[in-house]
Amino acid sequence: MWRGAAVRAVRPTGGSRAASGAAAAQLRRWLEGELEGIRGAGTWKSERVIASRQGPHLRLEGGGAGILNFCANNYLGLSSHPQVIRAAVQALEEFGAGLSSVRFICGTQSIHKDLEEKIARFHQREDAILYASCFDANAGIFEALLTPEDAVLSDELNHASIIDGIRLCKANKYRYKHMDMHDLEAKLQDAQKHRLRLVATDGAFSMDGDIAPLREICQLAQKYDALVFIDECHATGFLGPNGRGTDELLGVMDKVTIVNSTLGKALGGAAGGYTTGPKPLIDLLRQRSRPYLFSNSLPPAVVGCASKALDLLMESNAIAQSMAAKTQRFRSKMTAAGFTISGKEHPICPVMLGDARLAAVMAEDMLSRGIYVIGFSYPVVPKGKARIRVQISAVHSDEDIDRCVEAFIEVGRKHGALP
Ligand code: PLP
Repeated sequence: MWRGAAVRAVRPTGGSRAASGAAAAQLRRWLEGELEGIRGAGTWKSERVIASRQGPHLRLEGGGAGILNFCANNYLGLSSHPQVIRAAVQALEEFGAGLSSVRFICGTQSIHKDLEEKIARFHQREDAILYASCFDANAGIFEALLTPEDAVLSDELNHASIIDGIRLCKANKYRYKHMDMHDLEAKLQDAQKHRLRLVATDGAFSMDGDIAPLREICQLAQKYDALVFIDECHATGFLGPNGRGTDELLGVMDKVTIVNSTLGKALGGAAGGYTTGPKPLIDLLRQRSRPYLFSNSLPPAVVGCASKALDLLMESNAIAQSMAAKTQRFRSKMTAAGFTISGKEHPICPVMLGDARLAAVMAEDMLSRGIYVIGFSYPVVPKGKARIRVQISAVHSDEDIDRCVEAFIEVGRKHGALP
């Protein structure tokens, strides 16, 4: 018999063998106190269980089917694209379930090398390196690259993984005010005393749908002899004329040195992340970056998904254009109805409400009308800036968009967000 089955027979699922002893009891009390604290602070994150594929129309476990989904990062609708799924199945059959190894021992297959080459070509960079996630790519880059003699300058609203990655490195740390070029310049001046300066920013910020002023950042970087790093998780595949990202949109592809991004959002949505940039940098990461060196290779099915997603995007930008048109439809109809939508032209469309309770009740009411959206409030966003974040996908139909807008208008009037 398969040993796993035997183990499960002894310990049936649902049962638990409570650890005993004073330390375990003390730990349990502490954990319960912490959990109570999170509930009391109103910051408990619950999870809705989806019983179907990711897509614009979902079935939720224990709930109705046909829920309209407006809160995935599935910007291009590739998470359930038939060709992406077929590519995953083919890779699974040809290359197996996984490598049972890190890359430098026996975990590199031809498909990993092909995907890295494809990513570098897509971004017009020299080389690329794969990670299990973009979180890992961000955790692995700063420590490998920067020494105590260097400086890193980071936007205060950068993603948690950039913040954590920077924490791990020994460089001198500067945090500049969100997209504030005066503050960045002052900090760059101070950082002149260090050997090397790296400015790190999200290309597009996920809470506000706003886009980093990369032209100005690159000008300052040139003036103060700094490198520029961007996290393109909410840009790769759809921003810019060919979907290359924020650097293409703002015409600075040749000025941004390092790009980190994810395969877990627009590029098929499975999992995985990467760094792309100069070849010696990528070579160094293969030698020194800890999440790469000490973690398993990406599973072939995941590699297959991302590789097919990139093929589709390099063949045509029709999918990205379709998403842009739907984003425009949603933003203009919501603005005409009297809502304030933060950001500009990005498929992240935060419906600004201000009050945390209003955002929560409106999101609940939207779900009761079959529209799945999420309310965000403090501490995820600043106090008084609560919102419902809507994310548009290429696979939403115009009717889906209109249904969402109509529901917002009804719910907004009911709860006093609209006159
Ligand atoms: N960077 C940004 C800006 C993100 O939004 C995310 C995911 O939420 C990540 C990094 C992490 O990406 P991954 O899911 O590939 O770990």
